[in-house]
Amino acid sequence: MIIVVKKGADRAQIENLKILLRSKNIDPQESRGSLQTVIGCVGDVAHIDIGLVEALDVVESVQRIQEPYKSANRKFHPDSSVIDCAGAKIGGGCFAVVAGPCSVESEEQIVGIAKAVKASGATMLRGGAFKPRTSPYAFQGLGRRGLDMLSTAKRETGLPIVTELMDFADIEHFNDVDVIQIGARNMQNFNLLKEVGSYTKKPILLKRGMSATLQELLMSAEYIMASGNPNVILCERGIRTFETALRNTLDLAVVPLLHRLSHLPVVVDPSHATGQAAMVEPVSVAAAAIGADGLIIEVHNDPPRALCDGAQSLTPAMFDRTMKKVLKIRELEA
Ligand code: PEP
Ligand code: MN
Repeated sequence: MIIVVKKGADRAQIENLKILLRSKNIDPQESRGSLQTVIGCVGDVAHIDIGLVEALDVVESVQRIQEPYKSANRKFHPDSSVIDCAGAKIGGGCFAVVAGPCSVESEEQIVGIAKAVKASGATMLRGGAFKPRTSPYAFQGLGRRGLDMLSTAKRETGLPIVTELMDFADIEHFNDVDVIQIGARNMQNFNLLKEVGSYTKKPILLKRGMSATLQELLMSAEYIMASGNPNVILCERGIRTFETALRNTLDLAVVPLLHRLSHLPVVVDPSHATGQAAMVEPVSVAAAAIGADGLIIEVHNDPPRALCDGAQSLTPAMFDRTMKKVLKIRELEA
């Protein structure tokens, strides 16, 4: 349920309304937008008499929300959310580019790539330390040593760092991490979502599960938000379909659709979506053109020797060319 507040309502009236809602076990989430102020009601609203609320002086209108996601719903928060990732903003017109290797492999590697991608205009650095690999025999990531190397790269470049958390037991080592990635395989690890959401308000980059519907993606965002963290960034990274020509099938139309359904920023991952370095530039350009709030792109100094996802990794030179094109598209959008 959302309550649209009358224009010109004073603060005391709004606060009284919130007190009334809390007395009925409703968590009132106020969103002061550019056009109107709305109060999203989280909780069991079935017993609320809409007629009574509508009759209040401060209330313009009341609307029940049919969708199961509430906090993530655009109706709860009519303006697009802008999420501040340690200085790199994303959403509501702010565009972010996260770039770096699939996995952190050495200090020299991550620092070198961080410097290169920063010079090309990346606003954040990615690099996996804990890797969700299909094979138990494949490189699993450097773990805590990888996190330390990411911290060094952050110190040397000033770029905020993004890395994946697979096990909540590791979160105590994530103090220096600026954005916590929840990978596709864990999108519906509901305990992990609840634990992370209640532990930290750091931005969470939530990747769409391989066969997750948009509603399921939004419900996973809702888990994090309902646990106390409103700073969720949604990521489309391709889904499984009958088509096997590329690693995944990029569902690009979800960008404007998610923007309609939700106020959360949407980023596109052209690397995992396609699995081929040659596809990354055109797909990045398309994602920027369709209105994505950002990109997350894998870049490696020596792709043929990468310990993970070399085939889809750009060299720093390819990333530089991609950035130039993407920024041109962004200029057209502005
Ligand atoms: C990654 O970002 O390296 C990754 C494993 O992504 P996904 O969870 O989308 O497969
Ligand atoms: Mn990868």
